[in-house]
Amino acid sequence: EAGRLLFAAETDFLKGVVAMDGLPAPDRIEVCFAGRSNVGKSSLINALTGRKGLARASNTPGRTQEINFFTTTDGPYLVDLPGYGYANAPVKVVEKWQRLLKSYLSGRQNLRRAFVLIDARHGVKPVDDEIMSLLDQSAVTFQAVLTKADKVKEKDRENILAQVRGALSKHPAAFPELVLTSSDKGLGIETLRAIIATLD
Ligand code: GDP
Repeated sequence: EAGRLLFAAETDFLKGVVAMDGLPAPDRIEVCFAGRSNVGKSSLINALTGRKGLARASNTPGRTQEINFFTTTDGPYLVDLPGYGYANAPVKVVEKWQRLLKSYLSGRQNLRRAFVLIDARHGVKPVDDEIMSLLDQSAVTFQAVLTKADKVKEKDRENILAQVRGALSKHPAAFPELVLTSSDKGLGIETLRAIIATLD
């Protein structure tokens, strides 16, 4: 219920940030969303906020790597981190993004939790593990959110969950509880809203 209240409020795109000095004032708490490109991050943010097309439906490696801020009325900032793991992204672009990400994660005092999105079909990949290590180093509590659960067969579900739990157990900053979601089917969306609504 609390979750519904929070996100029934208006959500709006505030700004895209390419450098630390562009960050909005930390005058409210925020949560961020990280994940490999194509993991379903835009779809999840759209489902959470109930606004189709709010987050870019697709991200391309050629596009500027921005940290996108969304405002919610009386709620936290929702922060969309650029997708990682593009096979063909130029080294310079990757390095710039990693520097910005490190600065953001280690220096943002109002950041309450990171949600690391994991494709439920693939489990935790090495690049996901790297982000998790960065979150450990930055002392940012993170929670794994499995996406596209509708694409996983019932019989495969336990294996994937075990793989993800095993990977999380190696990360001190990991929150033990997983959230299984499907933006397409609306699965886990209320749960995630409620989790965000409890943070302060
Ligand atoms: P992003 O690159 O992480 O922002 O990923 P997108 O949100 O653009 O999604 C990538 C692709 O996965 C798109 O084709 C989406 O339609 C699809 N997708 C996203 N979420 C789901 C889901 O919950 N279920 C299914 N079946 N497909 C999804």
